Amino acid sequence: MTKTAAIIVAAGRGERAGGGTPKQWRIIAGRRVLDWTLDAFRAIPEIGEIIIVHHSNDLSHVSNLPELCVLGGETRDASVRNGLDALVRSDTPPDRVLIHDAARPLVSRDLIIRVLKGLDDNDAAAPALPVVDALWRGNAAGHVDSAQDRSGLYRAQTPQGFRFASILAAHEAFVGIAADDVEVANAADIDVQIVLGDENNFKITTPADFARAEQILRGAEMDVRTGNGFDVHRFGDGDHVILCGVTIPYARGLQGHSDADVGMHAITDAIYGALGDGDIGQHFPPSDPQWKGAASEIFLKHACGLAEQRSFKITNIDCTLICETPKIGPHAPDMKSKLAEITQVNVDRISVKATTSERLGFTGRGEGIASIATITLVQA
Ligand code: MG
Repeated sequence: MTKTAAIIVAAGRGERAGGGTPKQWRIIAGRRVLDWTLDAFRAIPEIGEIIIVHHSNDLSHVSNLPELCVLGGETRDASVRNGLDALVRSDTPPDRVLIHDAARPLVSRDLIIRVLKGLDDNDAAAPALPVVDALWRGNAAGHVDSAQDRSGLYRAQTPQGFRFASILAAHEAFVGIAADDVEVANAADIDVQIVLGDENNFKITTPADFARAEQILRGAEMDVRTGNGFDVHRFGDGDHVILCGVTIPYARGLQGHSDADVGMHAITDAIYGALGDGDIGQHFPPSDPQWKGAASEIFLKHACGLAEQRSFKITNIDCTLICETPKIGPHAPDMKSKLAEITQVNVDRISVKATTSERLGFTGRGEGIASIATITLVQA
């Protein structure tokens, strides 16, 4: 059976990324850059052995890793050489080797498989993306000197895959400093098949790259929550009702401790529900006289505040009012505007609709109004 190994080059100092600690040891989305990188390779069954090449100052960073860790050299080439030499010393050296930069933690399983497949029919295979932007050469003063032809140009990525014996011989013969192992292979006349790279497989270099990687990794585990709310208020004496913050003249009023805005209460409870944080009654006890006759806007604003504190954004609100009368439809646009103003959710993400209960039940008999609401929260 073909034996495949991977060398993860993690010996760089990564000063351009800032932050003091070399980038491969810095945390993104809760884990070190190298841990994300290793996960991708550990998940490929064909890869039997993984070697990590690290700097001598970073021994403490690798001490808990189960993989074989070897010291790097002065240059990237020297570090790769040390990784290859470690494989030579192993009982059965591999037939094929993938060489990858630790600072590309977003390497996907599909990309690694593409490189391995490329190696089935070629002496070497490496991922790259065609250059699509126009290219210029600039002068020292930051002005365009000339336009450059981009045809046939690629942006190189890793992992780069080789027959083990041939890349070992190429490294042994190589003189100078190479940007990557394809350059070393090229110098030894090894034919390298280009396989399709991946925009997400970028090398973390600048502080902005960390933010981008964090966003992508967090996106993969995005926290999306829905919440529902239900409320009922009974009719009593009065000459108006307040629904979703809008006052509607009516022959009766809704009874309740606060302003009895049944729609806004359902929406507020839906937000508390999505946050897993109780309900209106817990946050604003009816036994507390300060909430007597209170505008329900206070409750809704409180729920929105809690969501914001926990970095959640409300992405939609859907509220249904259930009653025979008054007619809701004519007031729905005002209700949506009012809710948008209170919640800071765009009005096109808010729905207020109404239904009757076909004259059945308490809403059908005109004894009160019910409301249900669903909302969605997304962690920002
Ligand atoms: Mg209520």
